[in-house]
Amino acid sequence: MRFAQLDLWRRSIRFRLMAWNTGVVLVMALVALLAVREGLRLTLLSELDERLREDALEVRLAFEEFYPNLGLVKEELDRKAIGHAHQAMFIQILDQHGQIVAASINTPAQGLPRADGGSIVPLNWGDYRLVQQHFTKSGLPDFSVRVGSSLEPIWTDIGKLTRLILLVGLALLPLAAVGGFVLTDRALQPIKKIIHTARRLRPAQLDERLALRHTGDELDQLSLTINQLLDRIGDYLVRHREFIANAAHELRSPLAAIQSTVEVGLNSDRSVDEYKELLYETVEQCRTLSLLVNQLLLLAESDVARTLASRESVQLDQVVERCVEMFRAAAEERGIELSAACTPGIVVAGNALRLRQVVNNLIDNGLKFSAAGGRVAVQLTRDPSGQRALLQVADSGCGIAPAELPHIFERFYQVNRARDRDAQMRGNGLGLSICQAIVEAHGGTIEVTSAVDQGTTFVVSLPAEPISTSPRGATPSLAPAHA
Ligand code: ADP
Repeated sequence: MRFAQLDLWRRSIRFRLMAWNTGVVLVMALVALLAVREGLRLTLLSELDERLREDALEVRLAFEEFYPNLGLVKEELDRKAIGHAHQAMFIQILDQHGQIVAASINTPAQGLPRADGGSIVPLNWGDYRLVQQHFTKSGLPDFSVRVGSSLEPIWTDIGKLTRLILLVGLALLPLAAVGGFVLTDRALQPIKKIIHTARRLRPAQLDERLALRHTGDELDQLSLTINQLLDRIGDYLVRHREFIANAAHELRSPLAAIQSTVEVGLNSDRSVDEYKELLYETVEQCRTLSLLVNQLLLLAESDVARTLASRESVQLDQVVERCVEMFRAAAEERGIELSAACTPGIVVAGNALRLRQVVNNLIDNGLKFSAAGGRVAVQLTRDPSGQRALLQVADSGCGIAPAELPHIFERFYQVNRARDRDAQMRGNGLGLSICQAIVEAHGGTIEVTSAVDQGTTFVVSLPAEPISTSPRGATPSLAPAHA
């Protein structure tokens, strides 16, 4: 348990940010140390070089003054070397061949770098820094002055500084860890709140929303995105619940009708014809029930998608013409003029059965909501680009009020007027939502325009296969187009 908690803590953002913060401070301290150390080294060396050059100039003056008395020159060199004994300074004078003419005390016994007697760039030699300058003066032989000084004081200074910076760096480490902890804790507060609220959310109660701090930072954006997602899920659940409630309501009516018909049959003895009549009624109710159940199943989106899993090339003009033919008798019986005008050879990829369902539904509605003497015109064309099939079903019926229009594709939605119609004509408000689901599953759109008491026009747009001289897998239309 303790190990699991430790592991959880090790994986937490807080721990990782803390570790990163500490690591970054450590690296920064090291880089600062190296930079300051190098800077100090260069500065101290250049100061030392400057001093050694000045000493070389002073020695030059002494040499020019005392030459050729080398004894006096030596004395002067010793005096200077003793004066700078704390730096272990030594001085040499060389002739133009690099031979030592005079040397001060403290000169290292051996191994000084060879030189040809000219000037050399200041250099480190063992524990010494060396400067050598060449001088000429008329009446005197050319000579060079070499001044050396111990590097020890510089290394001591650099060592002190290094230890100081390391100490400060080490002292900063725990501070960095604590600072990282505090900062991360503050930064993670909003996330903790998000987790806390998200834990309380339940599918049955999605009303709660994450509090926004209106800082506009990423965490605020995350909260906003989660809230929007919750809104969408909430809407979906509400629609889902409504759908189930409506479905149950619609199923109840035919079930109640079946129950009462059967009870009537059971209540008293009847003639065979009466029983037959009751049985016919029951079968009729069962048919309604079965239709409703099939529609509900189809509306379960997976069902529409499943029927479209394998698409075939559907000769849409033939489908439309057959549907129109199917309704012709009904239209005549009701005194409504039904016409069709189809451009031949329009092929769409999809499911013929489902597409027929769409056409049937639209024609059925057109006839249902038109009075005798009205007309329903069906038209199938390609759009100007030739890429889409346009199916238009226009009627001269009762029309739909603008306020109702946005809702007619909702499941179980029925305009009041439709509810008032006689039972035979009444639908269940699922037809258009099924049409929309099928059309959208085919990658198409369905739109409606309507004017009360003037009529309604539905336009279905579907992606069509390109115009081809020999349509693949589709037989040319044999049926004549109805004008
Ligand atoms: P229903 O099975 O009740 O017809 P639909 O989903 O097909 O259900 O239609 C929903 C509602 O849209 C209908 O109740 C009706 O009020 C309205 N509607 C559909 N088509 C037409 C139309 N052609 N003319 C007038 N109203 C229509």
